[in-house]
Amino acid sequence: MPEGCVIGVDLGGTKLLAGLLDEDLRVLHRVYRLAPRSEDPEDLLGLVAGQIRELLDGGFVPRERVVGVGVGIPSLVDRARGVAVSTVHQPLDDVPVRDELQDRLQLPVALDNDANCAMLAEWRAGGAQGCDDAVLLTVGTGIGSGVVANGALVRGATGAATELGHMVVDFDGPLCQGACTNRGCLEALASGSALGREGARLAGQRPGSALARLAGEGRPITGVLVTEAAQAGDRAAQEALERVGTLLGVGIANAMNIFNPEVVLVGGGVSDAGDLLLTPARTEARRRARPPSNGARVQRARFGAEAGMVGGAVLAREDLA
Ligand SMILES: [Zn+2]
Repeated sequence: MPEGCVIGVDLGGTKLLAGLLDEDLRVLHRVYRLAPRSEDPEDLLGLVAGQIRELLDGGFVPRERVVGVGVGIPSLVDRARGVAVSTVHQPLDDVPVRDELQDRLQLPVALDNDANCAMLAEWRAGGAQGCDDAVLLTVGTGIGSGVVANGALVRGATGAATELGHMVVDFDGPLCQGACTNRGCLEALASGSALGREGARLAGQRPGSALARLAGEGRPITGVLVTEAAQAGDRAAQEALERVGTLLGVGIANAMNIFNPEVVLVGGGVSDAGDLLLTPARTEARRRARPPSNGARVQRARFGAEAGMVGGAVLAREDLA
């Protein structure tokens, strides 16, 4: 592992977060940008390179102390070539992101999928530290995931493994979202989008609830709004979280049966609901998974919105060693 500081980048669909981290993964400085709306990959890569230059030239540490950059992207990644093969919500299809950034920055760059980066962060410095077998589910607009098995990240034959958000938990279930044309995926039933839909459904059934009042005011019922209403004590919103948590628990049970992990971590925006989500998820997972796998801990991930950035920094330290 190289001595010195590294830069981690989370190149998300809507936000670009870059951070300068020291040897102990402490964040010394962050640069946050909204992703450009342009369809031209040059605009996106130019913006990311600018963020990284801000960290390099900002006087936070001497530039020569920064040994590399790690970038997580919501993409299928060809790691041998450093190419983003196909990317969700970004114009990065068959783009050599690694070489493009290396040429611009004259620094070594490592590239991986953002969910793998988040798993790396949790594995090296978060809730899965010291584990040889662990699962991370990132529950936001969709459901991303990363898995460590037998002490290594699971990547599959072509880097596309552990898409746990697209495991089918309901044969005839609702259509999935984005590029997925399947039905009844975990993501279609237990993501933040699904939580918003469940909240809207319950708002229609419970005219006296806070959810119904918010809907009546014209507020779109999103997963965030349902979580806020549930935390403020609204019973309908709490039921929506129970339903989504229970469905998440079905997915967790499947992951437990397949991977026999020590710990299952739940991150992403929906995990802000805490035990309102995790208690029903734990109950359902313990009920459905086979013992002894069902004894795995189910807990919140340590790194919230910064998991991808911290994971990018870990990736840089390990890949560029
Ligand atoms: Zn799907």
